[in-house]
Amino acid sequence: MFLNGPPRPAVIYFLVDHLMGTTTIIDGKAKAAALSQKITEKAAVLRNNLGIRPGLAVVIVGEDPASKVYVRNKKRTAEACGFHSVKHSLPEESDQPTVLNLISQLNSDPDIHGILVQLPLPSHLNEQLVTQSIAPEKDVDGFHLQNIGMLTAGHLDNAFVPCTPAGCMVMIEEQLGHDLSGLHAVVIGRSNIVGKPMASLLLKANATVTICHSRTKDLPKVAKTADILVAAVGRAEMVGAEWIKPGAIVIDVGINRTQVEIDGEIKNKLVGDVNFEEALGIAGAITPVPGGVGPMTIIMLMSNTLRSAEMTTS
Ligand code: NAD
Repeated sequence: MFLNGPPRPAVIYFLVDHLMGTTTIIDGKAKAAALSQKITEKAAVLRNNLGIRPGLAVVIVGEDPASKVYVRNKKRTAEACGFHSVKHSLPEESDQPTVLNLISQLNSDPDIHGILVQLPLPSHLNEQLVTQSIAPEKDVDGFHLQNIGMLTAGHLDNAFVPCTPAGCMVMIEEQLGHDLSGLHAVVIGRSNIVGKPMASLLLKANATVTICHSRTKDLPKVAKTADILVAAVGRAEMVGAEWIKPGAIVIDVGINRTQVEIDGEIKNKLVGDVNFEEALGIAGAITPVPGGVGPMTIIMLMSNTLRSAEMTTS
């Protein structure tokens, strides 16, 4: 409803939506497509003017089917943006030195501006060691402690922000503007990849932030105080109608594979952490699953890679 309108004071948005009882469905796919076009144009300028082609290297270890799909999508999107895109597939049994050696080569490869190691890694590999071996200036996933520190300190100009919360923030700001003063944000989930960086971004934008997790008491009650509710848990449709404050912006990060029976046939279905049907008519705006946070995550990876390439010129 307001997607194309100018940013307005959050409170006005709130009142209007609450009174109307309608829910804006935030189209992450369309937003990502628009950003993709801008990134493609900027990449072309960089290539034509300075001969620099943004380069993204994706490393995958093993055969996890979901990881393979994610990696394929990332590679495809990078190519669509005109990037130099390389995929390194290592066998499941690869040892730690092999993985570290590959990352070291990519760290010193001038054609590569962004390095991403697809998680989870096989259990014999030390995820922390691997992610910390990526050069901070090529850490487009934002998992290096240097980037985490910069983000936590609020130095966003110097940090690569993890792609999922970065994408969520773009959608939140499009709804509510850049200043979230006076609004209460509740983030459900405290992972290093989503929950914690999401909270840091919201705090930087002046929201009052509460982080909830599996040990939080009275979770539905806390959630219902949120003007901005971010669900990053991994539990199918956990957030129901009674968790949502009327008019709240609901960002559903969860990706849960479920099965439903349609005409006597069992079919696979992706659902979020929020019961979408129940949220309609209560939330002021909501991201769907699929088609919300997912596409924005990939495009923020491209945005970080482009930025990394641009930074080599300064
Ligand atoms: P995680 O497992 O690392 O963290 C989950 C968090 O949820 C934990 O902090 C835990 O304390 C909390 N939690 C678990 N059970 C809970 C409960 N009953 N009540 C309250 N809190 C609970 O997961 P993650 O990597 O942060 O991902 C979360 C979800 O987001 C998953 O479904 C994942 O697939 C999805 N995800 C989506 C994208 C995307 O691009 N759309 C990206 C990353 C993650």
